[in-house]
Amino acid sequence: MENKEKFEQSVRNMLEIVGENPDREGLLKTPERVYKAFGFLTKGYSQDPREVLNEALFTSSNDEMVLIRDIEFYSMCEHHLLPIIGRAHVAYIPDGKVVGLSKIPRMVEVFARRLQIQEQMTEQIADAITDVINPKGVGVVIQARHMCMEMRGVEKVNSITTTSALRGMFREQKTRSEFLNFINTPPSVRY
Ligand code: ZN
Repeated sequence: MENKEKFEQSVRNMLEIVGENPDREGLLKTPERVYKAFGFLTKGYSQDPREVLNEALFTSSNDEMVLIRDIEFYSMCEHHLLPIIGRAHVAYIPDGKVVGLSKIPRMVEVFARRLQIQEQMTEQIADAITDVINPKGVGVVIQARHMCMEMRGVEKVNSITTTSALRGMFREQKTRSEFLNFINTPPSVRY
């Protein structure tokens, strides 16, 4: 991030406005700390998720579902700048091309390290996979907790928001059920 001074001045202003003294000892380094934290939490803006996937593409005759579930992520809502903490489940059915397994969580990370709304992030993940490997189908489900709801008392603590983006074969009943069953199976049964 550029404009470090401008950013830090904004944090000082915020501290003053909420009734703090930005010059007291405990807060002196806060503007710089917030600057660094925000730089990290928004570093996805300088990364290209499609490039991440393109780093490891392979030709494959496999046409069975590839599913990676429980990809943990931390993001920030674009409406309140408060954390979204969640898990993404990503699946696709290849059509000649597969992507290295580790690239999927990395791509999720790129989208998460931007200001987000959950619905949009779900779509973005599905779109990126579609664009890069054009599979027979893609399914993305995200389950997340929103601190902007919980901390502000809008929703009960621990309420989980679920969003999904289903494309191609994942719109068909059979594939859709297979995918959703996988996601909903407790891990203890599967390992
Ligand atoms: Zn929010």
